[in-house]
Amino acid sequence: MVSPLTLPPIPEGRGVFCNRTLNFRALKAIGYDMDYTLVDYHADVLERRVYDMVRQHLIEDGWPVESLCFDPVMVTRGLVIDTELGNLVKANRFGFVKRAMHGTRMLDFAEQREAYDQDLVELSETRWSFLNTLFSLSEGCLYAQLVDLLDQGKLPQVKGYADLYRRVRAKVDAQHMEGQLKAEIAASPETYVIQDPQAALTLLDQRAAGKKLLLITNSEWSFSQRMMTYAYDPFLPQGKTWRDLFDLIIVSARKPAFFTDRAPFFEVVTEEGLLRPFIGSVREGGIYLGGCAHQVERDLGIAGDQILYVGDHMFGDVHVSKRLLRWRTGLVLRELEDEVAALASFQEQQRRLAVRMEEKERLEAQLSTARMELQRLKGKYGPRPERSARELDAVLQQGRAQVEALDLEIAPLAQASSELTNARWGLLTRAGNDKSHLTRQIERYADIYTSRVSNLLPYTPYAYFRSLRGSLPHDPGTPPAPPLSA
Ligand code: IMP
Ligand code: MG
Repeated sequence: MVSPLTLPPIPEGRGVFCNRTLNFRALKAIGYDMDYTLVDYHADVLERRVYDMVRQHLIEDGWPVESLCFDPVMVTRGLVIDTELGNLVKANRFGFVKRAMHGTRMLDFAEQREAYDQDLVELSETRWSFLNTLFSLSEGCLYAQLVDLLDQGKLPQVKGYADLYRRVRAKVDAQHMEGQLKAEIAASPETYVIQDPQAALTLLDQRAAGKKLLLITNSEWSFSQRMMTYAYDPFLPQGKTWRDLFDLIIVSARKPAFFTDRAPFFEVVTEEGLLRPFIGSVREGGIYLGGCAHQVERDLGIAGDQILYVGDHMFGDVHVSKRLLRWRTGLVLRELEDEVAALASFQEQQRRLAVRMEEKERLEAQLSTARMELQRLKGKYGPRPERSARELDAVLQQGRAQVEALDLEIAPLAQASSELTNARWGLLTRAGNDKSHLTRQIERYADIYTSRVSNLLPYTPYAYFRSLRGSLPHDPGTPPAPPLSA
């Protein structure tokens, strides 16, 4: 008899989490985004560099920004810029704003309610700009700081918060398009790139299991070549390079337009990136620029549900490919590891908080019942309560004191819970007790999500990911709070 294999343990936070059942054996192709997916960066270092470059441009334009510094924890992925009011907000899954910051100052509850009690975050409106990726951190931080300067009257050339946003966006955009940033990263990848020795083996396994592997990146050829060489070649068998991992390489893909439009492909014909127009079917082993997802499906003979696309950009990689093409999708959310670690270290306090909240709910239900009985007694209607008005008054008084005492215990625990991983914004995936807007999008558009590509390794390319059944408020086992006992 063959003894069962011991399965490798999967560290907390390094799991592959499933929203919609996904059978890897049914996949014919796996497409990967590059930046922050196949190639991971030190986001604080890279974003600081982008920020400093943009600030330098602003100084040259005469803006008084010399003293501004990048703050890596000022904003997080999943926040939304409100370009109308100059705020950054965190919304829950329904679009209700749960926290807000004007410039770099957090709004208190009353200010927040006044600003947003009529407005839901609706990402299809141009007012809102979602921070989709770690590339958004420099932009969000700079925008917040510039709103402060605008409010102080120090940016006379800027016509309001929306105009400021357009200008910041254009500057950050230009920084990514100009050559200097990429040249610096390419010249010293060890400063920016986090190598993951397991990522190469993950892809080798998938290819050997018969999957077609595609690289579809918005980065240009020379940069992609440099990054992939640094991140993959040291970990491949002798004589192999990163190029051997892929059946198809597409650079400068212009996602999300890659998924929506029908742009032509160009072929990259030399190492230096010389291009020639391309007509016909893309062939395996080719390196292309531009193009579109429709043609990839057609030429490789793959249907939408036979391809998994894995990327880090909530909208450009995952939302669009799912909504328009029904590709299977995976989101890489690097922050998940910190998020899970913070939740794990807070488990004991979270349990105490839950117990206290249950006690509070029970007490509140008892108070409601006592109040109701008193009301009926005084109004002389309904069934006659067993307790006298005096007894009910005493119950109310005692109950209120108990709730107050509980609140003293609950408040610091709730505060600590809301500050996990980031004192301003809390966990990425939650908004208060509810799911965050980011989580709602992940649920909707990402079939699986994980903190890095190599997390797929222990699951193998033969894995069957099954979604959880999920819980609903009316599930049995959480009975409503009991009425006041006699
Ligand atoms: P991907 O994630 O592999 O598709 O590549 C992302 C590419 O988009 C990188 O080359 C980034 O430098 C670039 N990028 C990130 N943010 C912006 C932006 O705001 N404007 C233009 N390019 C960007
Ligand atoms: Mg990316």
